Amino acid sequence: MYVICSDLEGVFVPEIWINVSKQTGIEELKLTTRDISDYDVLMKRRLELLHQHKLTLHDVQGVISRLKPLPGAIEFVDWVRSSAQLIVVSDTFREFADPLMKQLGRPTLLCHHLTTDAQGNITNYNLRQKDGKRKVVESLQSLNYKVIAIGDSYNDLMMLRKAEHGILFNPPQNVIDENKDLRVVNSYDALREIIAKLLDEEQ
Ligand SMILES: [Mg+2]
Repeated sequence: MYVICSDLEGVFVPEIWINVSKQTGIEELKLTTRDISDYDVLMKRRLELLHQHKLTLHDVQGVISRLKPLPGAIEFVDWVRSSAQLIVVSDTFREFADPLMKQLGRPTLLCHHLTTDAQGNITNYNLRQKDGKRKVVESLQSLNYKVIAIGDSYNDLMMLRKAEHGILFNPPQNVIDENKDLRVVNSYDALREIIAKLLDEEQ
């Protein structure tokens, strides 16, 4: 039996930090792991910037709540969930993802979480576990499930490679070039076709 594990940002919703940067005008919040490869350094810098600009979790959630899932994502998620179990496996934080997950009909989400103080300032971040995406796939496989994994970037590669079927969705060109063995699709229709075929073959 298959479980579908999908990344969130870049697959179902826009990149959260880039949009927080755009909407708050804090240019430096655009930095990603491609600019600062050490995730801990990057996250600490982001939290420092929020603090400097006196932005609380509530403020950031307000920005995020104005974001919409990518065109076609809601329908695609509905379709997947009518055909198989879907788990969204993300490197974002529960508190950030919430307004978007609500719009997606709240599929199961496995991700990290934030620590806030009494005033709502974000004081720290907590990873759910190290190599979380890969471990989700391994755990499902240990429960005798097979996994179809979908992702768009570097942080998904371990998950895609561990899964029985790993699919890159709308990835940047450098990710395509460096991972020629992985299947690439650029539309929900193409993704639906592949998943439907895999589910059919199993029956
Ligand atoms: Mg992504």
